[in-house]
Amino acid sequence: MAEFGTDTISARIARIRLKMDEAARKAGTKRVWLVAAAKTNGADAVREAVRAGVDAVGENRVQEMLEKLGENAYEGAPLHFIGHLQTNKVRSVVGRAALIQSVSSLPLAREIGKRAQSLGIAQDILLEINIGREETKSGFLPEDFERALEEIAGIPAVRVKGLMAIPPATTIYSDGRRFFSKMYQIFIDTGEKKYDNISMDILSMGMSADYTDAIEEGSNMVRIGSAVFGERKQVPFK
Ligand SMILES: *Cc1c(COP(=O)(O)O)cnc(C)c1O
Repeated sequence: MAEFGTDTISARIARIRLKMDEAARKAGTKRVWLVAAAKTNGADAVREAVRAGVDAVGENRVQEMLEKLGENAYEGAPLHFIGHLQTNKVRSVVGRAALIQSVSSLPLAREIGKRAQSLGIAQDILLEINIGREETKSGFLPEDFERALEEIAGIPAVRVKGLMAIPPATTIYSDGRRFFSKMYQIFIDTGEKKYDNISMDILSMGMSADYTDAIEEGSNMVRIGSAVFGERKQVPFK
């Protein structure tokens, strides 16, 4: 599929932007953030993505994030933390990530609040919802999340900016869309309740395989890895 000269990170990002714009137009969404999910890609690849104009870079692992921070890989774009975060690693992430997308429990939110308070800052976060009710995934269950939200609203150094979800991997097109649309409904319902200290601005959902579907269902932030950086460990065709 790749043509010569078109299979670079910046060319991929340009193609992704076109598809994002088309999906956003269909949904009537003004602006959709493109977060490059860096995974194991190194500082040079991240810098190329930043130069090509992604809106943010997402990291899954604290250690990798710290290494790439040391190499100034993110200069020019906000850093988001998108992976599973253990409470004992909170102090490395708070204040360094502009947005922690993957806040999946009340104890984690409290720990982030403590750390942010001691730094004298407010930390922006998203709450991760386990929309597919998968045992292997973290995140609040849809029915637990409102109660948690009320408590998190009372943590002064934490600002909830919206919701994030990683729906179950499915090959059935309509199933994927159904989870996205459920998430959008929760996002809208929660926004209408107008909790103090909580704004429902961001709905982060959609990855390489399904970002156009996610945007069409109301996502305004997609996290894209392999479609930006190329498939990992792909053996070139000979
Ligand atoms: C890896 C990852 C992504 C991107 O996945 P791709 O399929 O490579 O686009 C998005 N969100 C999270 C939380 C991830 O871990």
